[in-house]
Amino acid sequence: METGDCPLCLSQGVSLHDSHFMPKSLYPLFRTANLQPVRFSRDKLVQTSNQVTDYVFCGPCEKIFNVGGESWIHTRFAVLNGPFPLRESLLKQAPLQTSGETTVYAAAKNPEIDVPKLTHFGCGVFFKAAVHSWDGDDPTRPYILMEPDVIDALRQYLLGKADLPTTVALGVTVDSALVAWQAMVEPYPTAPILGLQRYLFYVPGIAFQLFIGEDAQGKVPTCINGGSDGQVMYENVSVTMRNTGRVELKDAERSQKLLNMMADLEKKGLNVRLGD
Ligand SMILES: [Zn+2]
Repeated sequence: METGDCPLCLSQGVSLHDSHFMPKSLYPLFRTANLQPVRFSRDKLVQTSNQVTDYVFCGPCEKIFNVGGESWIHTRFAVLNGPFPLRESLLKQAPLQTSGETTVYAAAKNPEIDVPKLTHFGCGVFFKAAVHSWDGDDPTRPYILMEPDVIDALRQYLLGKADLPTTVALGVTVDSALVAWQAMVEPYPTAPILGLQRYLFYVPGIAFQLFIGEDAQGKVPTCINGGSDGQVMYENVSVTMRNTGRVELKDAERSQKLLNMMADLEKKGLNVRLGD
């Protein structure tokens, strides 16, 4: 147990829990006999079963993350050689629209999808990345850099004190690939789009994008939090990841073990490549 200041409720000198950066429930998904998770962080692609944790949030705030979204989503990720419950639920209803490669669903009208919890989970992971260094080299630098007013807007929203402002839009994309990509990609900033700052993270089968800037909800009409229908996109996420990851992860170090594993998976027809 450690004592410090909690960055969610802002209580000072409280007991801090050993908090997870990415949800604890993700790790067992990757543990198969000979396949360890590929963890994509800002600087490197590594194959590891290490869980990233640190003393960051107080007990009540850990509960807010858990009850707010993590406990709902933790049974709905894509499982290797197994079900993908969130996708199965999503596809039970007719889509709202299809444009190009992307089909859009009104998740708020689907009784099996809890849009507030999906939104809370996504915002929670981005918030965690913006308020703590986690395993970054510099303990004084947050894992991702975000404007203080945006961090505070996320904070108020996560605590249930305010809605997200129109300058913050969350995009949720469910993978349409036959075999969902089994990886986790920790939050990172991507190239801006439509004049908006953009951040992304990926958990098995689901990509989350945070768009920030003037009228973000209007500029990204397929975001989950802009309208009352809780839009969720459905497309081949490996394409999204390739488009957004190409530049940022181009120079990331890749271990030979990881390269061998990726080549192996590709032979089996799984698309794990992030770009050429
Ligand atoms: Zn707290």
